[in-house]
Amino acid sequence: MSIQTILNRRFVFSIALVCASHGLAQESTSTPTATPSPYSAQTLTELKQLQQAALASDYAYRQVAHLSNNIGPRLTGSAQAQKAVEYVAAELKALGLEVQLEKVTVPHWVRGEETAALVEYPGMAEKTTQKIILTALGGSVATPASGLTAEVIVVRNFDELQSLGREKVAGKIVLFDYHFDKLMAVQGHGGEAYGEAVRYRGDGPSAAGKLGAVAALIRSVGGAEYRLPHTGQTNYAKDAPRIPAAAVTAEDADLLASLVPQGPVRMRLLLTPQQLPDAVSYNVIGDLKGSEHPEEVVIVSGHLDSWDLGTGAIDDGAGVAVSMQAANLIQQLHLRPKRTLRVVAWMNEENGLAGGKAYAEDHANDVANHFAAMETDGGAGHPLGINYSTKETKGLLEPVAKILQDSGAGILNFAEFAGGADLGPMTKLGVPGFSPIQDNRTYFHYHHTAADTLDKIVPRELAENAAVVAVTAYALANLEQPLPR
Ligand SMILES: [Zn+2]
Repeated sequence: MSIQTILNRRFVFSIALVCASHGLAQESTSTPTATPSPYSAQTLTELKQLQQAALASDYAYRQVAHLSNNIGPRLTGSAQAQKAVEYVAAELKALGLEVQLEKVTVPHWVRGEETAALVEYPGMAEKTTQKIILTALGGSVATPASGLTAEVIVVRNFDELQSLGREKVAGKIVLFDYHFDKLMAVQGHGGEAYGEAVRYRGDGPSAAGKLGAVAALIRSVGGAEYRLPHTGQTNYAKDAPRIPAAAVTAEDADLLASLVPQGPVRMRLLLTPQQLPDAVSYNVIGDLKGSEHPEEVVIVSGHLDSWDLGTGAIDDGAGVAVSMQAANLIQQLHLRPKRTLRVVAWMNEENGLAGGKAYAEDHANDVANHFAAMETDGGAGHPLGINYSTKETKGLLEPVAKILQDSGAGILNFAEFAGGADLGPMTKLGVPGFSPIQDNRTYFHYHHTAADTLDKIVPRELAENAAVVAVTAYALANLEQPLPR
């Protein structure tokens, strides 16, 4: 999940978990007999079959296990990203889907060395240094090859930086010590906590650069301890000098915030990332053709690229895996959707959104045939229900929510930007967006860190997500009427 995702979806995750165990669906099921059901009796039976099959299957888990353990980190432009494209294409073909690779031109940034140490600070023992744990932000420029050494200043937010002015900032390393709101996250509002803090990752380096800083550090955007740095893309402003940018761990941010008021603190910083020429990559598209309206498409998707520190299990191998599972289950049960089910594994969500943008451009003449689009990009935590982007859709989803309530996923939540970052360009054009509502209370502990690994996924919860995606997508593909848009 990227900055764009979060800024677009600040409220998607705002479901209070306290009301999660029993959804709203059961209260609203007494449809007057005069109103025709939006689903045929056969479709409703098939939805229940899909749900049960999803909960009993380990296919999605095997897919995310392969992506994260066998292929590994899949940063855009890397050999592993290419391998993942080939793997998913081959799997979808094996399921009997019509598979296309749609070309995407992507940025190719590679991480290099990243080390830092305090070389002067109050109380320092002679001839020692103190190690600082950090990681370069995606897109960061390098320091000089021999590193740079400068005094560190600490600000809590943009206002504090501005109040210091150029005189106190020029020549310094600026640390933005903005705290991720852990309380908000444990209350189920992790997305909003992330949205607040991630502004410093996106805009901090340019704000500091404009005032003459030589490098920018942020306090890692995430909820856990364990001294883990969290990477993620930074966005240099066109009118600002590009300065090296990294995230220090929360613990190292606390250390700096404690030492700096006591006296001068100087840091030696070495970052050697490289921005290589743009590369060619692909969105992987697999179609399961509809029986009645093959030209109309329901997308199920996740993003195939990941950050490079971990193995991209929760962000977002899980989203790709549950999307593949939707097609797998429909095939296994010998069902046939009325509209085409299109599985998409997006490329470059994390550092550019090139895949989502290219798709919207390439399919600009076909937007009207995009009936609905789903993306799963919030980890693999227990799903509570469905986010939907068009208010009038709620009534049409109620029979689906009633079925999903059996696995605790019966909540229907209106979220204007439901659907995910890759779908942003399509939902902006009016395509209704959907996503599972996911329990993200621990998601931001591991997000964009070396600890985004397979063990963070609970197989049962992944299967529950697959059930939500398969049931929702199949219901939309078989809906007896148009969706409001
Ligand atoms: Zn993601």
